[in-house]
Amino acid sequence: MKIIMLGAPGAGKGTQAKMIADKYAVPHVSTGDIFRANIKEGTELGKEAKKYMDQGLLVPDELTVKILLDRVAKEDCANGYVLDGFPRTIPQAEVLDKALTELGDKIDFAINVDVPDENIVKRMGGRRACLACGATYHIEHIPPKTEGICDRCGQELILRDDDKAETVMNRLQVYHDQTQPLIDFYNAKGVLKEVDGTVDMKEVFNAIVDILG
Ligand code: ADP
Ligand code: AMP
Repeated sequence: MKIIMLGAPGAGKGTQAKMIADKYAVPHVSTGDIFRANIKEGTELGKEAKKYMDQGLLVPDELTVKILLDRVAKEDCANGYVLDGFPRTIPQAEVLDKALTELGDKIDFAINVDVPDENIVKRMGGRRACLACGATYHIEHIPPKTEGICDRCGQELILRDDDKAETVMNRLQVYHDQTQPLIDFYNAKGVLKEVDGTVDMKEVFNAIVDILG
């Protein structure tokens, strides 16, 4: 099963993608997580990506597409995957589509997690992330058991640089300009499914499970 998560930054794509990955035993592939891991390790890719991420801009397609295609070519993706944060532009979607078509394959579902902009701004300020294992929390809605500490791996939680209020507005603008057109792109392919992302995360997940079967 090959799934794409669509939605604004902070809509809950990562939260749902991790739950889908657990239930359906497919890898959760997040380009944002790959970039952040590279930034943490100080790689050239990380240094290049950080320039864009810190401003709330998209990392250029050439760079992003390459890391994504390398990742999904790995053995663990042979039976499917859930993509979180990719594609984010029409050219990215076209490259993925072409690569899959060449393999006689296709995306099964593109799930749009719908959350209005007003809710997004509140959510991003409350998001806390673990850079060690990729877990995500929210200080009000989904708090960790011990404040500031990851339940899963015990490392310290951080407020991502790009979740600060000034950057969030840029990211939303970029989303509307460059990523939202993907909703029509996947609708035209007949694989688009919409879920209401404003309700409790378990309810969002139930709606997704109804779709995936
Ligand atoms: P995305 O991957 O789309 O950027 P996340 O999954 O990281 O978004 O979620 C953004 C923030 O909102 C996180 O702090 C997360 O814990 C919180 N969150 C996710 N789903 C919900 C929900 N259904 N209700 C309230 N908060 C949520
Ligand atoms: P995310 O963790 O998905 O919110 O992504 C964090 C940041 O990483 C984004 O704001 C972009 O700067 C960058 N990024 C992640 N995925 C992509 C992508 N598919 N295309 C371009 N930039 C991306």
